[in-house]
Amino acid sequence: MDPALAARIAAGEVIERPASVVKELVENALDAGAGEVRVEADGGGLERLAVIDDGCGIAADQVELAFARHATSKLATIEDLESIVTLGFRGEALPSIASVSTVTLRSRPMGAPAGVQVTVREGLLVDRRAMGLPVGTAIEVRGLFANLPARRKFLKSGQAEVGAIHQVVLHYAIAYPEVRMTLVSDGKSLLSTAGARDLKETLACLYGVDLLDHLLLVEGERHGLRVTGLVSPIGYTRATRGWQSFFINGRWVRNRVLHVALEEAYHGMLMGGRHPVGVVFIEIPPGDLDVNVHPAKTEIRFLREREVFGAIRHAVTAAISVQATVLPGSVPSPEEPSGSFVEQLSLMPEPAGGSREEASILAPARAVPALRVLGQAGSLFIIAEGPDGVYMVDQHAAHERVLYDDLSAQVMQREVPVQSLLAPLLCEVSPAAMDVVAADGPWLEQLGFSVEPFGATTCRVRAVPAMLAGGPVGDTLQALLEDLATGKAHEERQDHALATMACKAAVKAGQALSLEEMRYLVQRLESTSRPRTCPHGRPTMILLSTTDLERQFGRR
Ligand code: ADP
Ligand code: MG
Repeated sequence: MDPALAARIAAGEVIERPASVVKELVENALDAGAGEVRVEADGGGLERLAVIDDGCGIAADQVELAFARHATSKLATIEDLESIVTLGFRGEALPSIASVSTVTLRSRPMGAPAGVQVTVREGLLVDRRAMGLPVGTAIEVRGLFANLPARRKFLKSGQAEVGAIHQVVLHYAIAYPEVRMTLVSDGKSLLSTAGARDLKETLACLYGVDLLDHLLLVEGERHGLRVTGLVSPIGYTRATRGWQSFFINGRWVRNRVLHVALEEAYHGMLMGGRHPVGVVFIEIPPGDLDVNVHPAKTEIRFLREREVFGAIRHAVTAAISVQATVLPGSVPSPEEPSGSFVEQLSLMPEPAGGSREEASILAPARAVPALRVLGQAGSLFIIAEGPDGVYMVDQHAAHERVLYDDLSAQVMQREVPVQSLLAPLLCEVSPAAMDVVAADGPWLEQLGFSVEPFGATTCRVRAVPAMLAGGPVGDTLQALLEDLATGKAHEERQDHALATMACKAAVKAGQALSLEEMRYLVQRLESTSRPRTCPHGRPTMILLSTTDLERQFGRR
């Protein structure tokens, strides 16, 4: 094969689009220790791209070498690969870029009296001259993919390419707050940071101070993995995950697992379709990370994915529950009362060992203190006292949370208590809901329903989850099936179904509760995974803090 052609094919792996060029050149500038990096893009980057830095520069006799394949100044031995601290190490970027464009490189290292300029067109050196230059390196790329018309055709609009370039520069600006970064596209400034060293200040440059006021500091360490950054508090969300960024050892990475780990910390507290904001840095010992997977290096394989997941979730959970007070010592255990409501509450045996134990390793620390129940208000709220003030607990929401947690565990262990019906119940549902009955019988069985089609829009129910037995079973099943018929992703559906069942089975507002019943409910609530919110994400309790009360009474 013609070596020029081979180079062009290899370039395709590293250089997919203008943003890939920007990524490689910015990484080189950062590896060179730049304090300032300026990116210019004209015509969506296809006409002209330039990255200018004030880094260490390249010695005149090394300039051609920088364009040679697998020439890198950053990696000497195979052992070095185990402990990579620079962003680049493959020595592929410059030759790849130069094989699909015309590159002009100007550079002057510190201490050299003058600099050098070289021009490489489609892999061939076409010009070299000495010239007076500032210290640092400027690389200009013109006519990208001019020799690859097919590649050019596959590119999105110029606007989309500018968007992708913006994303790249934005994320390096976040990862390197000590570096001043600017991006100018077709003469318009799109982004600029102050190089203030401070992440918060940098984010303020990029996102505005408004958002910053809300963010909470993340700081945690687990299994030798350090997690730091900023995340939004509960209740502050955005419509997309575009506001979540992850960096592993200073490198921006995109990996679905990371987003899931972040959102797990908010589990049950996010309304559907809403996402938290987060800038999260993960530090992993370089040996546990395989950055060498893809030439463009955005996909990183972790050797310890589970631990990375746990570390993120743990650190973020801690950050968002900072307001929660934790009482040392054990919770006083009230004598267990009896009665139908209490039986309902106790469907789930006390958690002991097994997979519940496993789950609790990842679960957050107790998020509410032990509460002393004082009474009930309006047959609606349980009034209780904690170390920091008076709590009003929504009895329905609290019971929903308890039942939801119980039910989740039971479904997971495939042991939902079931109540067989003496006479089968016939239930009218919509045709869409009938499809669910026909298609998802085994799954409904896991939830505790034994239900089968019985005509076009009628189904026959032979057994129901015990927790629902006393209530309007038909209504609940109808609501559940209609809901499932809307076609959500499986995991989401399950969550939804459990929340609906918990809601239907929970005590209603307006139901009078005895003191024992309230005590028992509050105690069970304290031991759930998310005592402060119901499965739909609404609060289960409100704290009237002693400080606030004192202030309102004019005592402070
Ligand atoms: P890599 O970054 O993997 O080493 P590149 O092809 O990106 O490979 O760059 C090749 C070499 O050129 C680098 O190892 C470095 O020595 C030099 N180089 C490239 N860009 C710069 C720059 N902006 N400043 C200083 N040196 C640079
Ligand atoms: Mg590089």
